[in-house]
This record gives sequence, structure tokens and C-alpha cells, in this order.
Amino acid sequence: MVLGSSLLLALASHAAERRTAAPLPTMAPPRPADRILVIAPHPDDETLCCGGYLLRAVAAGATVGVVWVTAGDSFEIDAIVTERTLRPKGAGLEKLGVRRMAEAHAAADSLGVARRHQYLLGFPDRDIRALLQDASRTPLRSRYTGVSAVPYADALHPGSAYTGASLRRNLQDVIEQFAPTIVLAAAPQDRHPDHSASGALALALVRERAPRARVYYWIVHAGHKWPAPRGLHRELPMRPPANAGELAWEEQALSDVQVAGKLTALGKHRTQLRVMSRFLNAFVRSSELYAPAP
Ligand SMILES: [Zn+2]
Repeated sequence: MVLGSSLLLALASHAAERRTAAPLPTMAPPRPADRILVIAPHPDDETLCCGGYLLRAVAAGATVGVVWVTAGDSFEIDAIVTERTLRPKGAGLEKLGVRRMAEAHAAADSLGVARRHQYLLGFPDRDIRALLQDASRTPLRSRYTGVSAVPYADALHPGSAYTGASLRRNLQDVIEQFAPTIVLAAAPQDRHPDHSASGALALALVRERAPRARVYYWIVHAGHKWPAPRGLHRELPMRPPANAGELAWEEQALSDVQVAGKLTALGKHRTQLRVMSRFLNAFVRSSELYAPAP
């Protein structure tokens, strides 16, 4: 029997629907001996991707850490809103970086991350991919802040030149100091170039410096349709984005207390909430998704 093409289409779309609605495998819960490190490209990523898992890990007695690759100092719209000037640049954006880092530290505190395990690298926002692709020794000058070296006094290595080699050394230092058993990094499918580039760097360094650690991918930017629906829907589980369906997603279920704790941590990111709260709140769900790196 030959099936009509419309019937075939209907069957295919039904199969696709079933696939996206099917329950995902459960991710192993954190254990007391785990040392879990989140590689966050920007302040707020630590909470969006992994806030619930960090809370669950701390409750289980694990050690948790966060490293921010940038201080989020290029977000111009945000700087306009928070500095109330029309064209903030240079010092205005550096000041935004300082403020966003203060918010990120407060968020990480509330997730149970000890201050000694909170690391800021302070490399240039929106230029991470460019930095890592460019092998030159001439430091890159940030289009936003105008500086060519880490300007933040509380960074891991203040004054580090904005070069790919120096970024690699900085992240390598954190991996060696923290000695993670589990690393949570951005997936290659994440559409923000700072995310995919820092995820790739993390994977390469972990394979080299901490080969026994397991790397799990997360995703934050997967196009304007994800996560859907926007806004706060804390009772809904997170579903994988369509553009990263090939990853072997696993589900980390969160208790009501962990979901509430994630929302509290997100609340610390005031400058971000002021400009895109519906997007940010959409990450506060009854589960988080991770995929083992191949
Ligand atoms: Zn980000």
C-alpha cells in the first residue's frame, strides 16, 4: 500500500511532536564528592543555565564554583537604561561591568557558591570568539569599553592583556585551582558567539588539564522562540530547543525550594531584569537540561 503524502506528513509531524514531548532521561544527581564548575560567559548565565543544579549540589554537600569569562560590559541598551545617558561608552560600560559583577556575586552567594570559588576573568564582552580565533599577540581593544587589558581590580588576573593566549591561561588557572569533577559549559549550538566560543575553550582545556572531569553542555540562546512560553512558568519543565535536538539531553529535576531559590538568585540581576525579564524568567522551570559533551 502506498501512503498519501499528506498522511506521511501527518505521521512525521506526529513523530516529531512525540519526540519533543517524550520524557527525557534523568541526569545523575550531584554527590558530596563532586566539584562542580560553571563556565559562565556573562553575569546571569550562571543562574539561567545552572542555578537549580547548583542549589541541589550544595544541598547534597558538593563543592560548587563559577567563573565569569566577561563582566558583561558591552550591553549598550542596558547601559543606556542604567546610566541614564544616551550614548554610554568607555567608563560608562566599565561601570556597568562593575555593577553586573556585583549582581552576579550576589546571585552566586544566594546559590551557595563560596566567594573563594567565584572567579571573574574580565575579558571583553562580545569579543570572546574573535579573541580565540585571532592568534596575534597584539591585544584586542574592546569596541565598548575602549580598554585592551582586564580593567577590574577584583578579577583573577587584573591587567591581563586581551589576547587569546592570555584568556586561555586565565581559564586554565581556574580549572587547575578549582580541580572540577564536573564542568557545566555552553553548547556549541548556543547562538551567542561568546557562549559557543567559551564552551569550546572550556572543553579543550578540561580535556587537557582535568581529563577525568565530565563536561555537560547547557544552552541559553537558541533563537527568539526558545524558551517558550516566555515569562515565569515555574511549574513547567524545560524542553530542549529545536536547534540542539541532536544533543543527548538529560533532565535535572528541581524541587519547589530549588525553583524558588533560582528565582531569588535571578532577582539579584536587576540591570538585566529591567530590560528583558520575560526572557530571563522563562529559565525558572521545574527542571534544567544538560547534555554530556561527546
Ligand atoms: Zn550570556
